[in-house]
Amino acid sequence: MTKYDGIIVGAGIVGVSIAYHLSKLGYSKLLLIDKGGVASGITGICPGGIRQQWGTEINCRMAKAAVQFYENINTHLEPEETIGYSSVGYMYTFHSEEAIENYKKNKELQNKLGIPTEFLTPEQAAEIVPGIDQESFKLASYCKTDGFVDDAYHVTQGFADAAKRRGATVINDEVKKVLMEGQRVTGVQTKKRGEIHADFVVNAAGLGSKELAATAGINLPISFETRRILYTNRIEKRLIEPLLISFEKGFAAKQLSDGVLYMSYLGESEKKLSSFEFKMKAAEVGMEIFPPLEQVEFRTHTDGVYDSTPDHQAILGDVDGVEGYYQAVGMSGHGFMMAPIIGETLADLIDGKEPSIDIRSLHMNRFKEDKLLFEPSVV
Ligand SMILES: Cc1cc2nc3c(=O)[nH]c(=O)nc-3n(C[C@H](O)[C@H](O)[C@H](O)COP(=O)(O)OP(=O)(O)OC[C@H]3O[C@@H](n4cnc5c(N)ncnc54)[C@H](O)[C@@H]3O)c2cc1C
Repeated sequence: MTKYDGIIVGAGIVGVSIAYHLSKLGYSKLLLIDKGGVASGITGICPGGIRQQWGTEINCRMAKAAVQFYENINTHLEPEETIGYSSVGYMYTFHSEEAIENYKKNKELQNKLGIPTEFLTPEQAAEIVPGIDQESFKLASYCKTDGFVDDAYHVTQGFADAAKRRGATVINDEVKKVLMEGQRVTGVQTKKRGEIHADFVVNAAGLGSKELAATAGINLPISFETRRILYTNRIEKRLIEPLLISFEKGFAAKQLSDGVLYMSYLGESEKKLSSFEFKMKAAEVGMEIFPPLEQVEFRTHTDGVYDSTPDHQAILGDVDGVEGYYQAVGMSGHGFMMAPIIGETLADLIDGKEPSIDIRSLHMNRFKEDKLLFEPSVV
């Protein structure tokens, strides 16, 4: 029976990026296993926003590196069909002095790290988002190099294909447990194919990661949070290019390249709202900031889930006492944008190389050492 260099469980954006980066380091006998196929998990519903406007240094550094990757994604992955990436920018509106004060330190941190975030007056913001209600907010922050990929599936398949060209195998199967001999991982037990052996196993199973980790005796501090996205009808006219977000109002909106607008209302009571109430609330807060939304029809919505950690940061790296096991889990709502650099750093770590970004602060040990790294800018 084939023994693999490594098995990666989960062919979402995180798993495929790890496979791609390992394959670039020369690992040709890799097995990527997904119970539903490439991008069949949360990645499949991800709209594809990529931003660098974060409040912790590690996230700013990782997002900046990820943007550099996404800007050159077609050169890296050489996909069959060109992947469309656009530097449309992210704009945040602030509605109170308190919110502006709080955000100032994030902007300083971003600028210090070379991220070109700028503050805009409502008048300046209206030049980028015509029609925005200038009376409804006091200041905006805008980073023009934040970007967007409209098609998360295409990107994910692109990573998987690039890994396959270097020898990786992708299969549909469910991993029931991580196999161990003493403290060493030896492979996985699958539903259809039985035992498959490898030198290392990477848990990149997204919403299934907690259950999978438990089979190796690892208790992941991950909880699940519902997030809804609302889609409108297709609008011919370009209404809004950047991703527009208001933390205070709990609102986010962006027009996709096909003309459809996607929106979200992230208010605290979101989970308790019926579909109709959710649409009404999103429309109400959206129109307060961006009145041209009067022209759109609020049609469908999709319910997604965040795999969140207590500090809203991913959990990356190995696990003490479980040799040959690695994890890239708990993406807390920003796994798509961070995936390129997570893949690169995890692959380096597995290969025994120094990663280009020090990700030790995102190791699981931070929970037992009480070194949580709270990210304040989660949408
Ligand atoms: C509404 C919404 C909007 C979002 N918007 C953004 C955004 O704009 N930008 C951004 O960066 N992020 C965004 N995110 C978050 C982003 O989508 C996720 O963080 C990211 O897609 C997670 O990728 P993943 O590979 O970790 O997980 P997944 O995509 O869920 O992949 C995990 C895979 O593992 C497989 N699996 C699980 N258990 C097993 C098992 N036992 N055996 C075999 N296979 C298994 C699943 O089938 C799945 O395909 C959003 C999320 C939501 C819900």
